[in-house]
Amino acid sequence: MERIAIYPGSFDPITAGHMDIIRRGLKLFDRIIVLITHNPDKKGCFPVEERLRLIRKCCEGLPGVSCDSYTGLTTEYAVRAGACAMLRGLRAGDWAGEQNLALINSRLAPEVETLFLSCMPEHSMVSSSAVRELASYGASLEGYVLPCIEADIRDHFLTLKQKGNGHG
Ligand code: ADP
Repeated sequence: MERIAIYPGSFDPITAGHMDIIRRGLKLFDRIIVLITHNPDKKGCFPVEERLRLIRKCCEGLPGVSCDSYTGLTTEYAVRAGACAMLRGLRAGDWAGEQNLALINSRLAPEVETLFLSCMPEHSMVSSSAVRELASYGASLEGYVLPCIEADIRDHFLTLKQKGNGHG
């Protein structure tokens, strides 16, 4: 039987840390669905369609990875997709919140396990919010995102700046 995992998150935008979890997750699962879970009332920085495009670009060479977005309960999506697990990445400090979420989700869907992969030391300071902050000041994103999307992120912030919404 095909083993499917959901990798849920905001991915606003997808980082090198997220990509590392996906690559390592592929050793454990036949398919990974990167799922943007979002509240339609909260806009975020990158529109969901753009976040999906960046995920697709980063995962182009990775067979078995697809992406989607969902505004309902992640467990609901996972059960419908036939997933046996939800994949999460753990950085120092993530544990308390992640454990709480995993407990809530296990009560909602006991058949879907939450699986934590520890973050690599080189990604311990990598987060979507750090990427947004650095990009808004035009700083280098080397090591924070895959090189194939660096220009897309830079362009996004240049456009925001031209509209008067960015820093600097
Ligand atoms: P959320 O908004 O749900 O925290 P994120 O998009 O920030 O979603 O992250 C999705 C998942 O990826 C979470 O499990 C998060 O802990 C994990 N993650 C985020 N950054 C890293 C990183 N640098 N290394 C490993 N895992 C990470």
